[in-house]
Amino acid sequence: MLGLETSCDETAASVVRLTPDGVATVLSSVVHSQIDDHAAYGGVVPEIAARSHVEMIDGVTRRAMEQAGIGYDALDGVAATAGPGLVGGVMVGLSFGKAVALARDLPLIAVNHLEGHAVSARLGAPVQYPFLLLLVSGGHCQLLEVRGVGDMTRLGTTIDDAAGEAFDKIAKALGLGYPGGPALEKLAESGDGSRFDLPRALLGRKDCDFSFSGLKTAASRLAVACETDQQRADLADAVQSAIARQLSERSDRALKDYAERHDAALKQPRPAGEAIGQERLFVVAGGVAANKTIRSTLEAVAAKNGFAFLAPPMAYCTDNAAMIALAGAERLQKGMTSDIDAAARPRWPLDEEKALADPAHK
Ligand code: ATP
Ligand code: MG
Ligand code: FE
Repeated sequence: MLGLETSCDETAASVVRLTPDGVATVLSSVVHSQIDDHAAYGGVVPEIAARSHVEMIDGVTRRAMEQAGIGYDALDGVAATAGPGLVGGVMVGLSFGKAVALARDLPLIAVNHLEGHAVSARLGAPVQYPFLLLLVSGGHCQLLEVRGVGDMTRLGTTIDDAAGEAFDKIAKALGLGYPGGPALEKLAESGDGSRFDLPRALLGRKDCDFSFSGLKTAASRLAVACETDQQRADLADAVQSAIARQLSERSDRALKDYAERHDAALKQPRPAGEAIGQERLFVVAGGVAANKTIRSTLEAVAAKNGFAFLAPPMAYCTDNAAMIALAGAERLQKGMTSDIDAAARPRWPLDEEKALADPAHK
């Protein structure tokens, strides 16, 4: 499966092989980051992103095919991100995918970018469905029950900002570059967050929702008032712990809820080294899953609840096309292909198919 990803500021192409029993191998994964194009503006400029995708998609795709060492004849399909994201960029990759599909008479699979993140852990390990997923990225923060492509239920979501957005905005207030998450993580290494008392949102609430806007506002104000590098490092550490804490507290609730509903069907984690599958499994994915403190905090919550824990390899946490190719391949195996006039969708909820099928499910 050839995968194409152009929904934000990465132009990416990848070839992934999926065996009939569901084992994925990444044959190539090429990512061209536009960070330098946007750095001067402190964030992604949609028009610049779309133009850059137009310039890069051809070469990036050619490199992905060359590195995979296969010709177009060896492909079974083309998967392209069709949303959600910046619509100008999405249209570039989706149109390019349609052109390849038409020229080579291949099925087109229009992939939801979030579904790509949702399956991304399967690029590094033969993870079996179902699992509980925490999807934490630049634009989303959701807890999902994942039974397979096109079969997910959202248990909770942020009521305001995404965790990655909080990282980026607070990092900007601290004078760090874009994207802010990795820079803030680095600064936090030399900090001690205990001298800051940041707001804690939604504590003890019975749902699985998130909120980061209070933290974002409070920390941004404190950031501007910092006078020394040490104070800035201390604040970065406090912010990272606060985000980690909220992610783990909300996940704790979802893990308990998930275990309660599925306990009869799920086994306890197997000893290390044994194949993963049909057990209590907690997966974290998306750009923020690259954060080491957050990974270890979530791993501890999983262990406390008797769940195995898995995160994608670092390279597949932030945006890439391998996850799009894999979601496309899994869809093709289920016979879920798209029409050649599939539309680019700036907004596209992940559990839409389920929501449409079940009017009682919102
Ligand atoms: P979405 O997937 O919601 O459409 P996106 O594609 O822009 O948004 P991703 O590429 O998955 O998001 O992730 C980017 C986000 O991850 C940014 O907000 C970035 O700051 C954050 N991020 C990346 N690395 C780290 C890190 N080490 N620590 C914290 N945050 C990080
Ligand atoms: Mg990006
Ligand atoms: Fe993403």
